[in-house]
Amino acid sequence: MKRAIIALGSNLGNREAYLTSAVDQIVALPEVYLVARSAIYETEPLGLKEQPAFLNAVIEIETGLEAETLLQHLLTIEAAHGRRRTVKWGPRTLDLDILLYGDEIIRSERLIVPHPRLIERRFVLVPLADLASERIVPGLGQTVAELLRTCSDHSRVWQYKPKHVEWTIHHRIC
Ligand code: ATP
Ligand code: MG
Ligand code: MG
Repeated sequence: MKRAIIALGSNLGNREAYLTSAVDQIVALPEVYLVARSAIYETEPLGLKEQPAFLNAVIEIETGLEAETLLQHLLTIEAAHGRRRTVKWGPRTLDLDILLYGDEIIRSERLIVPHPRLIERRFVLVPLADLASERIVPGLGQTVAELLRTCSDHSRVWQYKPKHVEWTIHHRIC
């Protein structure tokens, strides 16, 4: 079994519903157990600025799935939530990225872990710090808290209170 951390993002349609439904479907996968769930953050778009604000969160799971198999499942869940890839870094109903997979470093054609752009994104580091601020990121030799302190991205990240869905913050529930 491995501990993996998945980043969730949405900036189209019912963003809260996409995040909660994504967590439900991830946790319903075979050999996947929810360990922890960050708060939800509302975040300013990076890269392509002219698009709606995002909701972002991260979850930690325990899983017997191989990393590539987990990625395949996540891409299927994105598709089931209407994800279409038109513009790179453009608006999306749901993005599910694997940030960490145990302490493994993976560089295959389809999967790079730790996620290669994790260190340059406050919208990833802030929720990740909720769950794993003292975790050393494999290959970088720095903790999440250290990476957040030195992050060159200063875009805005607000705590977001869900209005329509239940989202409890869990730590180590299994
Ligand atoms: P970014 O990767 O910069 O966050 P994105 O999430 O919008 O951009 P996608 O269109 O969701 O990019 O993914 C494109 C491809 O990235 C996926 O099909 C997948 O094969 C590949 N990929 C590589 N590493 C990862 C990872 N750690 N998590 C998710 N997808 C990854
Ligand atoms: Mg992404
Ligand atoms: Mg992605």
